[in-house]
Amino acid sequence: MSFSFELTGRTALVTGASSGLGERFGRILAASGAKVALAARRADRLEALADRIGANAAAIQMDVAREADVIAGYDAAEAAFGTVVDTVIANAGIDGAGLATEMPEDAIEHTLNVNLKGAILTAREGAKRMMAAGVTKGRIVLIASITAFEPSPGLVAYSASKAGVVQAARSLAREWARKGICINTISPGYIRTAINDAWFDTDPGKAQVARFPRKRLMGQEGLDAMLLFLCSDASEFVTGADFVLDDGQTL
Ligand code: NAP
Repeated sequence: MSFSFELTGRTALVTGASSGLGERFGRILAASGAKVALAARRADRLEALADRIGANAAAIQMDVAREADVIAGYDAAEAAFGTVVDTVIANAGIDGAGLATEMPEDAIEHTLNVNLKGAILTAREGAKRMMAAGVTKGRIVLIASITAFEPSPGLVAYSASKAGVVQAARSLAREWARKGICINTISPGYIRTAINDAWFDTDPGKAQVARFPRKRLMGQEGLDAMLLFLCSDASEFVTGADFVLDDGQTL
C-alpha cells in the first residue's frame, strides 16, 4: 500500500500568501500539482510569487477581515481557474502583541478580526461554495498556534484568537461532518518569519529560544508534510483535529 499527497486536480486558496508560511504553502501546494490562488493585501508581493510559480497560480488581493473582500476573492479565484476552490488554507494572521492592561481597544479588536473572524469568514465562504458545487473531498486547514494552548504574557489577544481558531474548526467540522468537507487546524511552534523576526533578535527572544528543549526555532519546512496530508485524499477520515507541530517547544 502506498500513499500519495499528489494534489493535481485540486484548486486551493491560501490566505496570507504574500509572506512567510503562506508564501511557502502556496509554493508547495503548486509544486504538488494544485492550482493556487494566493490571497493577501499586498498585491505586488502576490504577483511576484504568482509569476515565480507560473500558470497554476493567481494573485488575489483581499483583506480577510472584510467579508466583501473574501467573497470577491473567491469570485476572482473561480474566474482565474474556471472551477470552484476545493482546498482552503486560512493562514492570514497578525501578531497582536501587547500586555492586556496596555493594549488599546482597537488593537484587541483588530487582532480578533484578522486572526479569528478572518479564518471563519475564509472557511465558511469556501465551504458554502464547495457545498453548492457538490464537492465531496473538500479540505480546509486553519493555521492556529501553540499559543492556543500555552499561556504567554503579552499575547492575550493573539492567544485568544488562536484558541478560537482551534475551537471554530472543531465546531465547523461538526456542522459540515456530512457535507463532504474535512476541516482541521495546524498549531505551529515558533518559526522565524516577518511576524516575529524582530522579537527573536532581542535578548528576551534569544532567551526564549534557549528555553526550548531543542534550543532552536523550527524551520518553515516543518509544516510541509502535514499540510499536504491534510489537503490530500489521504486525510478522508481526519476532521475536527488539531495537529501541534512545534519541535517539542511546549514540552
Ligand atoms: P507573516 O510572514 O507576517 O505572514 C502573515 C501573512 O498574513 C502575510 O502574508 C500578510 O499579508 C497576511 N495578512 C495579515 N493581515 C491580513 C489581512 N487582514 N488580510 C489578508 N491577509 C493578511 O507571518 P507568518 O509567520 O507567516 O504567519 C502566518 C500564520 O502562521 C499566522 O496566522 C500566524 O499567526 C501563524 N503562526 C506563525 C508562527 C510563527 O512562529 N511564525 C507560529 C504559529 C502560528 P498582507 O500584509 O500582504 O495582507
